Amino acid sequence: MRKIEIIDVGPRDGLQNEKVLFSTQDKISLISKLEAAGIKRYEATSFVHPKLVPQMADAEDVMAGLAPNPDVTRIGLALNVRGYARACDAGVDEVNGVLTASDGFGVKNQGADRNKQLDILAEMAHAARADGMPLTVTISTAFGCPFDGDVPPADVARMAKAAAEMGIVEIAIADTIGAGTPWAVTEVIKAVRAVAPQAQLRAHFHDTRNTGLANAYAAVEAGVDILDASVGGMGGCPFAPAATGNIATEDLVHMLHRAGFETGLDLEALIETAHWLKTPLGRPVPSKLSKAGVFSGQARVAPKAAPQTAQ
Ligand code: MG
Repeated sequence: MRKIEIIDVGPRDGLQNEKVLFSTQDKISLISKLEAAGIKRYEATSFVHPKLVPQMADAEDVMAGLAPNPDVTRIGLALNVRGYARACDAGVDEVNGVLTASDGFGVKNQGADRNKQLDILAEMAHAARADGMPLTVTISTAFGCPFDGDVPPADVARMAKAAAEMGIVEIAIADTIGAGTPWAVTEVIKAVRAVAPQAQLRAHFHDTRNTGLANAYAAVEAGVDILDASVGGMGGCPFAPAATGNIATEDLVHMLHRAGFETGLDLEALIETAHWLKTPLGRPVPSKLSKAGVFSGQARVAPKAAPQTAQ
């Protein structure tokens, strides 16, 4: 049975655009619930400037509050060497850097055009090699940029090639604003594979325009074994206008399980976590499974006829 690894990005990408500030304890509770549901690798937090992303201001406190768990990989997002160093000091197991496939989003999101981003990533890769810290990279706006419009697959491939040449073994292709289609996913993955054949590919989709699961299907069909998702379908990006949630972990897992893929995840526990999120969020989450529940495949047992009572 083919195994698909799900990386839950809820505690970082999911939360960062929420207007309601989660307490550090609620973030720790969310992470504990994800670990209990079987999530083995997840975005724990990000080490960005607290003025830019106030929701992530307690990154160090979240990391310090987590119980040690040798079975999981806690990813910290960092946009530069300073963030990388903070992530290492806070005890992450892996750092995720970000490249953008377009300059417009790069300048807004991380204050750097693509060429400058590559210089920054090279510095991070150098430090990570010296530290023995696993470093992965996400290429955002890979299917469209809120500022520059359409993004040619060749632009995504250029960034992927540069990252692979720095020795980065895992590259995530991200549809930051939900501009992708399943056909575009096939095309971009092909373009990236052509220039970075050794790279392990991962895909990250937002459901902003209702194409998230279709895009995930296309990525799986193209041979991608690692997908990002966020429990409940929370998410967005403070620097991408109208960006909405990541694909919901439980919706993705349900689709994959129904099709016979293995994820190692406890679907009911994920749904319970999605329901739990209502309280700190102050509203229900957008995922479908949290409303519809799991389709078990079992026939419904007809209720027994009421016994005849003696007259
Ligand atoms: Mg995202």
